[in-house]
Amino acid sequence: MSLPTGSTIGIIGGGQLGRMLAMAAARLGYRTLVLEPQQDCPAAQVADRQIVAAYDDATALAELAAASAVVTYEFENVPVAAARRLSDAVAVYPPARALEVAQDRVTEKQFLNGIGIATADFRPVDSDAELAAALKAFDGSGILKTRRLGYDGKGQRVFRNMEAGGYAGTCEAMGNVPLILEAFVPFTREVSIIAARGADGSIVAYDPAENVHRHGILHTSTVPAAIAPQTAEAAREAAARILAALDYVGVIGVEFFVLADGSLLANEIAPRVHNSGHWTEAACAVSQFEQHVRAIAGLPLAHASRHSNCVMENLIGDDVLRVPGLLAEPDLVLHLYGKAEARPGRKMGHFTRLEQLAAG
Ligand code: AMP
Repeated sequence: MSLPTGSTIGIIGGGQLGRMLAMAAARLGYRTLVLEPQQDCPAAQVADRQIVAAYDDATALAELAAASAVVTYEFENVPVAAARRLSDAVAVYPPARALEVAQDRVTEKQFLNGIGIATADFRPVDSDAELAAALKAFDGSGILKTRRLGYDGKGQRVFRNMEAGGYAGTCEAMGNVPLILEAFVPFTREVSIIAARGADGSIVAYDPAENVHRHGILHTSTVPAAIAPQTAEAAREAAARILAALDYVGVIGVEFFVLADGSLLANEIAPRVHNSGHWTEAACAVSQFEQHVRAIAGLPLAHASRHSNCVMENLIGDDVLRVPGLLAEPDLVLHLYGKAEARPGRKMGHFTRLEQLAAG
């Protein structure tokens, strides 16, 4: 049964993803209620109402559940316990299990490997001794990451041809938190796919985007990606398998490394709309944001084909100063997030350049 027009969708998290979800919800006739501790956050500027409280505040969660017909979230570090508690009172999509899998890099890789999706080799690391053993297994090289709460390349350390002993004190320096060592992946490019699963189990997937990162932050997403059709198909197939295995409802982003032979290793799952899917608002009839709202509202999903080739670029920090010049370009779709202060590394907005009409 679909959500009647005028119903309220609760959104946990008030950043730009919440903002774009709220805008898409409004176009479909829904109201939105944002739970976010920061007042006047990007999402609250366009939503109907904000509850100003922590994401795990029991009173606030009860208020959110009571006022919403369905609750979703815009970031993957929503406390799993809070999502579970909320699910007792109101429908929560995507399911809490998706949060649980995506929040811990070890659980995530075990889940992916368990459903037949390849990832980088990895070892959990909780001590310098375990790090030494893991580095030895990976010929002295690898990327050490925090298992939890890492984003945009934060909480990571690279080891190349490590000599014995050079890792002493690493675990303490990383904050004595659970870690994972991943073997280096000699990728030729990075791609991601945005897919959606409806309440009826139907699945649609956008074309994979090719992503370039700068200083650990997404810089551009280009569509189409320069990959073979079989590689694109493998990405679609993996996304569909993940969605089905999690009994998922909503939009998911899956990041992959592409190897020289065209095969894929999955890197990360994002159980939400994703930065590398922002191009869909400019190059597709229905964006990832509307697709997500359709899914969680029990509405039919739209097809996910694109009408144009395009490049999406993030505006980070002072990049926003480029806006007047960008607006002079034809076929450029700009999106700013309403953030007052342009701090270094802060995502201020993005734009998508439409390049040419896709054939057929
Ligand atoms: P992540 O936080 O896992 O998305 O990693 C940030 C970026 O670091 C990725 O987009 C890659 O460019 C690079 N990276 C992460 N893990 C690996 C790996 N195992 N091998 C090679 N490069 C990696």
